[in-house]
Amino acid sequence: MKTVTAYRCKKCGLVMYPGHKRCLKCNGRDFEEIEPEGLAKLLTYTVIEQLPWGIDERGRIIGIVEFENGVRAMGVVRAETVRLGQKLQAAWEPVRKIAGEDIYGFTFYAG
Ligand SMILES: [Zn+2]
Repeated sequence: MKTVTAYRCKKCGLVMYPGHKRCLKCNGRDFEEIEPEGLAKLLTYTVIEQLPWGIDERGRIIGIVEFENGVRAMGVVRAETVRLGQKLQAAWEPVRKIAGEDIYGFTFYAG
């Protein structure tokens, strides 16, 4: 599953996604590329009732998660009940259609 690339500062270990030219913590310039690994912990979420065209759902839960290796990302939470701190399984799936084409993004499922 090729998803997103995050960047870990070689000096202080801060993980950034998306990347920046300089580390936000120590100003370092050397990064290693990493991918999200492990379960995703739900940090915060919001429910969006008014969805744009191309999304065939009533309401959608958008969450921000942190993976076990520190990568943070946003995606669609597909769980019946949601609580902060919940551990979710990540997938990379079509999340909407634009001009007939599937757009991929993170989706998160209750383990
Ligand atoms: Zn740093």
